[in-house]
Amino acid sequence: MKIGVLALQGDFAEHIAMLKRLKVDTAEVRLPEHLNGLDGLIIPGGESTTIGKLAIAYNLMEPLKQFGQRHAIWGTCAGAIFLSKDVSRDQPLLGLMDIKVQRNAFGRQVDSFETDLDIPELKQATGTDAPYHAVFIRAPIIESVGGNVKVLASVPDGRIVAAQQGHLLATSFHPELTNDTRFHEYFLTLVD
Ligand code: GLN
Repeated sequence: MKIGVLALQGDFAEHIAMLKRLKVDTAEVRLPEHLNGLDGLIIPGGESTTIGKLAIAYNLMEPLKQFGQRHAIWGTCAGAIFLSKDVSRDQPLLGLMDIKVQRNAFGRQVDSFETDLDIPELKQATGTDAPYHAVFIRAPIIESVGGNVKVLASVPDGRIVAAQQGHLLATSFHPELTNDTRFHEYFLTLVD
């Protein structure tokens, strides 16, 4: 199995390190040809407008959309925004996931926070019971999801922060910035 990480901007190096800990082959994706031979792709956190503009500059928009038709993609934070089909403003989006996202929904950088989440699918897939400690940095929320999208996690006030649509995964938070490999393990179960 070989997993790519979109390496245009943002914290791609942390995702690569996490995958290496799980003994997975990795590749940094900066050009369309770097998608060849990959089984799945992670789009990291960062700044979603910048990621989108760079994806256009490197002719990656169409290849990424096509890759997502057949392969697993996971977007964390800015990556989740880029995967979505609607952010209520004009910026380049892959539109692969039927989710509507609100950027910076928890406030400014100083309002970044960490919290424990209960994620039943994660516990089930990894056979552990511990809550999941999630890191939110100027995070988006998933405002609404389409009919074939499963909600995986919400914060206590009910706002959605993780969702899955078949082999596509979106999280508002940053599993790559923790020591907990369970979310990466969960993503690998979506890769075939
Ligand atoms: N605030 C960023 C955006 O809207 C996302 C932040 C992040 O990825 N940590 O694109």
